[in-house]
Amino acid sequence: MEKTSRLKSWVSGRINQAQVDRYLEDGRDFIPDAELESKLAPAPPPAPARVREIIARALAIQTLEPDETADLMRVRDPELWAELEAAAGQVKRKVYDNRIVTFAPLYLGNRCVNNCLYCGFRSGNAAERRRVLSLDEIRGETEVLAGRIGHKRLIVVYGEHPDTDVDYMAESIRTIYGVKVPVGRGFGQIRRVNVNAAPMPVEELKVLAEIGVGTYQVFQETYHRQTYASVHPAGSLKSDYRWRLYSMHRSLEAGIDDVGLGALFGLYDWRFEVLGLLYHARALEKRFGIGPHTISFPRLEPAENTPFIQETGYRVTDEDFRKAVTVIRLSVPYAGMILTAREPAPLRRALLPLGCTQLDASSRIGIGAYRSRSGEQVSDRQQFLLGDTRTLDEVVRELALMGHITSFCTAGYRCGRTGQCIMELLRSGQEGRFCKLNAALTFQEWLDDFATPPTRAAGEPILAREIEDIRQRMPAVFPAFMKQYERIRQGERDLYF
Ligand code: SAM
Ligand code: SF4
Repeated sequence: MEKTSRLKSWVSGRINQAQVDRYLEDGRDFIPDAELESKLAPAPPPAPARVREIIARALAIQTLEPDETADLMRVRDPELWAELEAAAGQVKRKVYDNRIVTFAPLYLGNRCVNNCLYCGFRSGNAAERRRVLSLDEIRGETEVLAGRIGHKRLIVVYGEHPDTDVDYMAESIRTIYGVKVPVGRGFGQIRRVNVNAAPMPVEELKVLAEIGVGTYQVFQETYHRQTYASVHPAGSLKSDYRWRLYSMHRSLEAGIDDVGLGALFGLYDWRFEVLGLLYHARALEKRFGIGPHTISFPRLEPAENTPFIQETGYRVTDEDFRKAVTVIRLSVPYAGMILTAREPAPLRRALLPLGCTQLDASSRIGIGAYRSRSGEQVSDRQQFLLGDTRTLDEVVRELALMGHITSFCTAGYRCGRTGQCIMELLRSGQEGRFCKLNAALTFQEWLDDFATPPTRAAGEPILAREIEDIRQRMPAVFPAFMKQYERIRQGERDLYF
């Protein structure tokens, strides 16, 4: 009884309406449903010349207009789709070159006051075993991630619950940053903690900003209001569409200026969600001059005792998913795109060339799963089931064989290259300069500390090619780069430009 009233009182104090209202324009938010629906209304496919004009805008790293994105989603001709896919890959290379970033999710607790129909953590799911990691357990998980696997970046994930409130978040993140494990010639350490958590008020976001987090992600799940209401039961905290919609505005206001958007594909028409993401990116650009640092596009996955997933009428086929990824890449050309291990390995392999920039690897999403001996997924302790459980070493090797360098660079937020600054660098292609140097340094570091012999063998030629490229394309900084590089080879760690 006491527990229920404690929860109720915590929930009732969470939403600060003034922190939503101040962003509304004439009482309206930035998702005009009817306008989005009208842009998606049946119409003939666009002429090839129009499609190519739109491609040219994306290649100039311009955010597309909603009508342009809607037109791309109307293309039927397979050859034009092939052009779109090729352009998506080109946009990615223009902004991010051949770099891919890897990370791991770390789930810290599965207690949750919400009852989202699609989620294994929902409060009504009696089959879920509930647990919140202690600081010692977090240290243990981090030791595996940073010391054994070799991750430098994590996304920490929390349910919405007073047991994992902002104080817990702050403590857990500080604990993660504090772990340093001797390995190889240096040490393993998590250098960037990104956060996926429920919407928070500005005061709490400021606490996270002060600790120094990377990206703050809140997925809108669905931009379609009616569907949003039907999957988030009325009266639950999460049922407040606008509180969630303006999370990123509050984040930017609080000083966390790398923000991550996302929609959960499979709740409503995928084309509506793609437009929703675009409207969201444009709203942030308009208000703050900063768009999203990343966009995520998780697809609904099966979860323990969660029948909704089989019942939704909007599961996205692989073919449509491919289209969605292509159109998102072209619509918001500067944004990082995260392709998670929800998807099976062959599909990730096929989608990567469409412009994805970040992959998770060695992922375990059970609470406390990194330290547990069995590599099995534990369905009653995780939010959903993963499609790709390959190790980081395997993923890095495959990326190298495909011609990509894995970047373990985490310099961005630590030296102020975030928000508006990074937007300008990305748009002008200059961020690539720092990133290229840092990718080479951190890749060498990782090969020395963590790679298995076959991964080393696959990675070294990529690195050699990269260093030669730096010598030719950046002769002025090459000597300084080589100095840092030699220091890394001698065992120094965490050097960056
Ligand atoms: N509790 C917080 C919230 O809802 O914002 C943060 C974390 S939630 C654990 C992370 C994300 O997982 C959700 O935003 C949702 O998009 C996604 N998710 C939930 N259920 C899923 C499922 N069955 N399959 C795939 N993704 C799912
Ligand atoms: Fe809770 Fe997030 Fe799952 Fe919803 S999606 S039940 S808020 S953990």
